[in-house]
Formats: sequence, C-alpha cells, structure tokens
Amino acid sequence: MTYRDMLAYARSKLNPVRLGKYDSTGFVAAVLEGANGKYYAGVNIDLACGLGFCAERSAAAAMVTDGERTVRRIVCVDENGAPLPPCGACREFLLQLSAENAEAGFLAAESPQKIVRLGDLMPLPWYEPGREGETF
Ligand SMILES: [Zn+2]
Repeated sequence: MTYRDMLAYARSKLNPVRLGKYDSTGFVAAVLEGANGKYYAGVNIDLACGLGFCAERSAAAAMVTDGERTVRRIVCVDENGAPLPPCGACREFLLQLSAENAEAGFLAAESPQKIVRLGDLMPLPWYEPGREGETF
C-alpha cells in the first residue's frame, strides 16, 4: 500500500457517531503499517470524564493483539479526511511500544505529500535506552 492507499483506507474507517452529550466515536481514523507488513485500523473513542483513546492507539492495540509492536508507517485522518499528525500521547505511546518506531513515517500532509519521521517529533525520550527487547 502507498501512503495514498493508506489514506483511502483510513478515510473508509471514519464513522462519526455522537453517543451522547459528551461522547463520540469514529471522528478520527488511523491506519498503521506493522513491520510484519500487515495494516491495522482504529478509530477514536471519546467518552465523558476523559475516558477513551485516540485512533492511533486503537490501531496499535489491534497490532499488539496480533503480536506486532513495530510500526513502519502511520496515517491518521480527521473527520474531514485530512491527514492529522499523532497527538503527543500517541507519539509517546508508539515510541514506548518499540524504540524502532522512531523510524516510522507518518503522513503529515497530502498535497504536496509530506512524510515526517516519528522520532523527529520526540527527539529526547525520557525513558532508558535499551529497554527494547526486555522480557518479563
Ligand atoms: Zn493521540
């Protein structure tokens, strides 16, 4: 899949639903390409009192459930289908899943296409280098 294909896939997953006065889902969609070559989609779930999570973490949960932690590419779209960079929490989340995710590229703009390396957005990780590969 090209970034353009991933963008179309993410747009196909948009499914905005208002659940109540403060709750909504599907206003943001994300597609992650895992190092295993598979693609994982997710949507945001925003619930009252700050509960819920972003589309990127929803997609990452599906990826981890499938046994993969390393992301090669990220595409996220807002409710209008425009590319949307991961928020700070998702950047941190993805980098803690695997240090290799610093090399993941995300689509920052569609036209002209702009790809940004995730690690360039988080240049000074606070956690210990070398945690990668620890087993419990
Ligand atoms: Zn986020």
